[in-house]
Amino acid sequence: MNRDIKCILRIALPTPLHRLFDYLPPQSLDLKELVIGARIRVPFQSRTLIGILIEIAAISSIPEKKLKRALEVLDTNTIFPSDIYQLAQWAAEYYHYPVGEVLLGALPSALRKGDVLPPSVTHTNTALTSAPGSDAPLPLNAAQQNAIDAIRMALNQFQAFLLYGVTGSGKTEVYLRTIETVLSNGKQVLVLVPEISLTPQTITRFRARFQAPILILHSGISEKERMKAWIAARNGDVSIVIGTRSAIFTPFSALGLIIVDEEHDASFKQQDRFRYHARDLAVMRASINHLPIVLGSATPSLESLLNVQRKRYTCLSLPERAGGATLPRYHMLDLRRTSSETGLSPALINAMRDHLEQDNQVMLFLNRRGFAPVLYCCQCAWVAGCKRCDVRMVYHHQPLRLQCHHCDARKAIPEKCEQCGAAPLQPIGLGTQRLEQTLEKYFPDIPILRIDRDTTRRRGAMNEMFEHIHTHSKAILLGTQMLAKGHHFPRVTLVGIVDADSGLFSIDFRAAEQMGQLLLQVAGRAGRAEKPGTVVLQTRHPEHPLLHTLIHDGYSAFSTSLLLERESANLPPFSHLAVFCAEAYDAQVAKQFLETIKQLHTANTHSVMTLGPVPALIARRKGLHCQRLLLKATQRGALQQCLKNILQKLEALPGRLPVKWTLDIDPIET
Ligand code: ADP
Ligand code: ZN
Ligand code: ZN
Repeated sequence: MNRDIKCILRIALPTPLHRLFDYLPPQSLDLKELVIGARIRVPFQSRTLIGILIEIAAISSIPEKKLKRALEVLDTNTIFPSDIYQLAQWAAEYYHYPVGEVLLGALPSALRKGDVLPPSVTHTNTALTSAPGSDAPLPLNAAQQNAIDAIRMALNQFQAFLLYGVTGSGKTEVYLRTIETVLSNGKQVLVLVPEISLTPQTITRFRARFQAPILILHSGISEKERMKAWIAARNGDVSIVIGTRSAIFTPFSALGLIIVDEEHDASFKQQDRFRYHARDLAVMRASINHLPIVLGSATPSLESLLNVQRKRYTCLSLPERAGGATLPRYHMLDLRRTSSETGLSPALINAMRDHLEQDNQVMLFLNRRGFAPVLYCCQCAWVAGCKRCDVRMVYHHQPLRLQCHHCDARKAIPEKCEQCGAAPLQPIGLGTQRLEQTLEKYFPDIPILRIDRDTTRRRGAMNEMFEHIHTHSKAILLGTQMLAKGHHFPRVTLVGIVDADSGLFSIDFRAAEQMGQLLLQVAGRAGRAEKPGTVVLQTRHPEHPLLHTLIHDGYSAFSTSLLLERESANLPPFSHLAVFCAEAYDAQVAKQFLETIKQLHTANTHSVMTLGPVPALIARRKGLHCQRLLLKATQRGALQQCLKNILQKLEALPGRLPVKWTLDIDPIET
């Protein structure tokens, strides 16, 4: 080795710092063996870390005497196929998250810790051919055929499709037919699904159609399984990967198509640490790989609808339910004269009786678990709150206790008011446990199945309940949004939405969109088979225009009116947001930190607006005060440049920061 030629390794490390780290190569290394994208072990502070080689440079800004030597090169080949590598780099830049964290985070943990990667074997893709499974494909209707033709035409090039089909319109059938074509071309398919809809039902349907190998990736599988799946996909030993959001980083040897089902679902956005949106990364990945991508939904996000309007996405619509099933009929019921403790208007109870008498099932939706959201003193108006969070504790009946739904703190029910000591306390308001109790009184002979986070905690509990629902006739299903998605309940003919109002008056500008999506998803559970469905919405605002548009004119009219509102208020998707959030035990410290950031933001003041700092909606969580600073710009480029400047200056600040802070790009909760 010629000692005069300098060789500096620029390495991405899993640390919070937004930069690469310079090292000298290991002493006894033949430089010809270095490849970009290899894992390298290096000394870092008092530890050793594994990083990824990003660049080989001739000079470093650090004096040579201070440069440390890397310890060991772990790979003779790049660990990432180039598309994953590009995707991670793009994501790191876009979300302003350290590239080392993104890259290392995309690896199975064994590889992150330095395990040897078995040499990749290229297979002749016999395993991928699509031998038909046991389940014969259905004859298609014209809209389905049209959608499938359009996607088939686009194989081998980047094109984004929005498959916009009402619930039960046969979107899954469109996916299956297109997948069949891709597999017969010897290629692989990635299907992203929301957390909650990765059900045995979904998987069974895929397995019944294809004999080709299918792997499932979600947060519940073991690290060993994850590693196996990662290697299998990379080597071309698997045809279809069905996974939740992090599956977007799966390497494939011959990816041919990406599908994102229920593209509007909030679970595609990671809500801590690296806050990426898997749908948006999926579109990016399709573009990097020159593939078509299909985003499917009955209630598309406003972002995707605007992309259709702007002709970036092609819309394929399935306007009718497949196989002759009809869409449900809606009825609105005024809740103003009904006691909030029962929660059920007499008209809803009568409708339930009618449907149950005809041996059908009824589903009630209430998005609040526990018995009652408030425990209240009638004497002095004291309310039981969480010690560590600024929220009320929820009264739970089974088991009997108070519970914080934010930090999971639990405590015994106080015998008397903690403030005046005088009166016994009253549970106020309605949760699923209380509704269950009421239903037992009205319908003593009917099985009642409550499905919420409390009844489905045990592994397998959810499936046992679904089993019960599918094998019995008459039943009342009662649940939170866990019930809303992905499942088919062919015997359900009546859906009751106990409280349709939650999204109408929220200060979060996305609340109405989310409410509309949720209501239609819940409503979509009704009458999916030969039996027509009825949906009853209980509301205290029967005259509310948004509710009217939603149920009389449908989601297209509803979303169009929301888009107009967003446009006139210059809110996303017509503008772009980023939120800095700072947490500290002292609210003032958190606020001061965000004031500093605001001052760092000197350039571009006219094109990037700041709002705040203000306390978060829940101002204190787990004892930490949380403040937020919102940045908004009409041009994404201006916002990105401004954030880059801020982060550079922030890292240059001396000393340790007194707060824990995060940056969220395109936040979905504001
Ligand atoms: P989505 O995914 O849009 O909710 P699915 O693909 O699950 O809809 O289809 C809903 C139901 O309609 C399923 O039971 C499916 O078997 C049936 N189905 C789909 N396409 C057809 C078709 N062309 N003819 C008859 N039935 C169909
Ligand atoms: Zn709490
Ligand atoms: Zn009191």
